[in-house]
Amino acid sequence: MKRILVTGAAGFLGSHLCDRFIKDGYHVIGMDNLITGRLKNIEHLFGLEHFEFYHHDVSKFIHVPGNLDYILHFASPASPIDYLKIPIQTLKVGSLGVHNCLGLAKAKGARVLIASTSEVYGDPTVHPQTEEYWGNVNPVGPRGVYDEAKRFQEAITMAYHNFHGVETRIIRIFNTYGPRMRLNDGRVLPAFIGQALRGEDLTIFGDGSQTRSFCYVDDLVEGIVRLLHSDYVYPVNIGNPSEITISEFAEEIIKLTGTNQKVVYRELPTDDPKQRRPDITKAQTLLNWEPKIDRAEGLKRTYAFFKTLSKEELMETDHYNFDKYIIK
Ligand code: UDP
Repeated sequence: MKRILVTGAAGFLGSHLCDRFIKDGYHVIGMDNLITGRLKNIEHLFGLEHFEFYHHDVSKFIHVPGNLDYILHFASPASPIDYLKIPIQTLKVGSLGVHNCLGLAKAKGARVLIASTSEVYGDPTVHPQTEEYWGNVNPVGPRGVYDEAKRFQEAITMAYHNFHGVETRIIRIFNTYGPRMRLNDGRVLPAFIGQALRGEDLTIFGDGSQTRSFCYVDDLVEGIVRLLHSDYVYPVNIGNPSEITISEFAEEIIKLTGTNQKVVYRELPTDDPKQRRPDITKAQTLLNWEPKIDRAEGLKRTYAFFKTLSKEELMETDHYNFDKYIIK
């Protein structure tokens, strides 16, 4: 039985990865410090013989007994509000955390896949974004702590591959959504759905003309599995190229939820990328991968999840305070 370590196991993506590798017959070791992850996302796995959980911060030395075949490094805050709340932890997990994962991979002879992000492209001047584009990132802006940590993460991963011969894979993840997103992480989808469910107006930042391309989580997980088992060591974009403005997206959420609320406009956060769409030619040709679940279907499934949240969970918006966290 293959053994796989998933860091960030209690997070949105990490928990779906644990599910997938349990389903595929692996022994899964989840690790999380639970700063942004939640045990609720993985509690259904706790009774299983082939699931273990370590409550541990991967920015500190990682000890895992026994052999390991694979490591997936998915621990990181991953929303602009979180980077502003916990900037040092964001930098540490993308630098010290990845260093520990690479060291562990080297010691165990494991293959390691690192979660990178479209944020390495910054506010892109090339559209759609290909893996060859080097990006337009502000290192000292509010997103710098995330963007630069992820860029460092890619560099150290390539160095461990080139210098130590560690088997490495790098995925650049574009906006992904689905069940188990944290309602109060500030990302646009949980923000809009939460607002609709609470009977609040939907907050569009800026004039809403900025674009994003949203990928359903099951498609992303399939891309990760294929990349892990491929022999390609350079970064690969995984995302859904179907691009939409944030205004159009708000309209879709209003229709989906049937809310009577309207949209209201707030200031655009600093360095908010104007447009984002993955060029997925590499994933298509190297991995024979492309997304299968369109937005209509994905949003339906995601809304079904958010509707199951309790009233208390729905009202838990305390640290989600735009005025406090948006840096002018
Ligand atoms: N956004 C918005 N209203 C919100 C939350 C986000 O208009 O309540 C915008 C945000 O400014 C950005 C887009 O939606 O242009 C996507 O934001 P998100 O934080 O989800 O992801 P990212 O900017 O990292 O792609």
